[in-house]
Amino acid sequence: MEVIVADYAGFCFGVKRAVEKAREAPKPVASLGMLIHNRQVVDQLAREGVRPVASLDEVNCGRILIRSHGTTPETLVRARDKGLDIIDATCPYVKRAQHLAQKMAAEGYQVIIVGDAAHPEVQGMLGWAGPGAVVVPDKKAAAALPFHPRRAVLAQTTQPESRLEEVAAALRSNTDTLVVHNTVCQATHQRQEAAVRLARQVDVMVVVGGKESANTRHLAELCRATGTPTYHVERAGELCRQWFINTRRVGVTGGASTPAWIIEEVVGMLTGEEKIMVPEEEKEPVTTQEPVASGQPVAPAEPE
Ligand code: SF4
Repeated sequence: MEVIVADYAGFCFGVKRAVEKAREAPKPVASLGMLIHNRQVVDQLAREGVRPVASLDEVNCGRILIRSHGTTPETLVRARDKGLDIIDATCPYVKRAQHLAQKMAAEGYQVIIVGDAAHPEVQGMLGWAGPGAVVVPDKKAAAALPFHPRRAVLAQTTQPESRLEEVAAALRSNTDTLVVHNTVCQATHQRQEAAVRLARQVDVMVVVGGKESANTRHLAELCRATGTPTYHVERAGELCRQWFINTRRVGVTGGASTPAWIIEEVVGMLTGEEKIMVPEEEKEPVTTQEPVASGQPVAPAEPE
């Protein structure tokens, strides 16, 4: 069985930067939420002294690390008021989207954010987007909005560009003046294009990354939409032999928050290579993974 890894699989610029900032920060340091949406990396950082906290209520002194997804202006003010030393690892692409949301709201536009309302990046953006801002997941929700004279539409940075275009098209029917800002980040766009290209050339796609990771889930959605059977796994232990019966070519890609060693672990399992390269600084103690998918969790798959 041939295994092909997509271009741009794995850590993006913003995630690399956030992890570096966390590693460079004096310890201990609290991280407001998961620094990135990858449990293995977050667990490793916790062992190095980066403690994730659910809210500022849990931190009364010391340092607070703002994750790559950013946060609201209110949270930043509250952290300053508490006298915390803020280490801001917000990705510059997310910052740009926040600034645009703030600017458009200040100019009197209703800000529409295309994305997942429950995602921390979107919750952070909402804080910058003014009181009238609305999150819409898709074109159907956009078409159902009441008329508004001035709207600005932006996207969660990891949304597919096609979804932003669809929502913008739907908003033209219920908005007089519509401004569209494409805030999908380049890393996301490149990764999605490469994944879809590969999905069209293989029999099965494996998308590797955290189950909470929006960009990984979107990669899986896009690959699935090509018609190629697609599986989203966090670790190699979740691979099932049944997925690869009569498979000649498997494509592998990884979300922007997936470290290289986890992608290599999956590739190693698929190809049957015993030696899996794990960078020393990212290595974690070996743990037994319970398979999450049904079927026989045995790998490597048999070579053709
Ligand atoms: Fe930044 Fe894009 Fe990476 Fe998100 S996916 S952290 S916006 S570079």
